[in-house]
Amino acid sequence: MIKIPEGIEQFAKLPRWWRVDVPTEVIVSADGISTLYELIESRGVKPFFVIDSALKDQPAFARLFERNDVFAFNASYSEVRTSDVDELVSLLHQRGGDGLTLIGIGGGSTMDLAKAAGLCCANPLRAQDYQGYGIPMERGLDVWTVPALNGTGAELTPIAVMRGPEKKLGINNPLAAARLAVIDPRLSAGAPAFNRFYTMMDCYFHHYEISRSRTSSPDAIADSLDGLELSGRVLSCDLSEYDEQRAVLSAMASVLGGSSSTGGRVGAAHAISYGLSNCAPFLPHSVAVTLAMLALKDVYPDGYAETLRFHKISRRELPRASAYGLSEADIPRMTATALGMEKLWQSCFGPERWKELATPKYISSVYRAIVKG
Ligand SMILES: [Zn+2]
Repeated sequence: MIKIPEGIEQFAKLPRWWRVDVPTEVIVSADGISTLYELIESRGVKPFFVIDSALKDQPAFARLFERNDVFAFNASYSEVRTSDVDELVSLLHQRGGDGLTLIGIGGGSTMDLAKAAGLCCANPLRAQDYQGYGIPMERGLDVWTVPALNGTGAELTPIAVMRGPEKKLGINNPLAAARLAVIDPRLSAGAPAFNRFYTMMDCYFHHYEISRSRTSSPDAIADSLDGLELSGRVLSCDLSEYDEQRAVLSAMASVLGGSSSTGGRVGAAHAISYGLSNCAPFLPHSVAVTLAMLALKDVYPDGYAETLRFHKISRRELPRASAYGLSEADIPRMTATALGMEKLWQSCFGPERWKELATPKYISSVYRAIVKG
């Protein structure tokens, strides 16, 4: 584990703190938006901004909204739908598409929207036709990411998660990764406390599951162990208020979440979460994984115990599946979705044993516990 920087100025001078090679150039800054403008200028790119509309009221982002090359995405209303991607792609084509660099600024959804649209711009089909793994695609527009919420790892991951008419599934393609990411922990200062807490929970779960994975690469596991330490430290404080030093640790953990996902694989909690998400359109991903972890005490005993502890420290009640409309009736469909996540079960239980452990009976019993809870 590298020495943890004290404050943003020190962080901005920190050498690379992750091991897994990523295709994204990571630029750390204590003044992210000014750095972004300088990069646009010095690299001579023609930008088009995709920004979370919730950032409009925050002074740090105000000047971006005055531009006419901006697509404001309402990420609070819904996750990225494939129709949002199609809409943005057609707008980009109207604007002459090809020479643009898309700059996604916001949380995971907004960055993923930019990544998906950048890629789909150079490909003829609808976004929903590319939901899946390893579907051949042409390289799209260059995409840069600027996280305004730390922990999603979306600034680096080669994944763009979308909800389609049939399923919630990402474009999983190495070409989906951003070319460049500008990391300034201060840009997350205005994020709602709920998002700050649950996004860091999801970051913790990623690191937790990858660190215990049986199929992830050694470097990915080493990165996830550092990320686990950092996210655990952050979550051991009450996150009701923003704090700059915690934002630094969160930004570091988030980048490690991106690097460890390259060569690493999450496990059972994420497999279970996808079934929940498929049946509950307004359930945030981070809450879905939390619900899953709370029902996996037998598989991940310390992850379960830490989840309880973190909620207590931040004085948060545990989430309930019923609040998102989930019930007994959803169990068969959720079970079928989770069963399809073979690679995640292999990661959790090992390639030899997963079939005897991740049975329909076991998985439906987990969902039963969740909907009763
Ligand atoms: Zn996750």
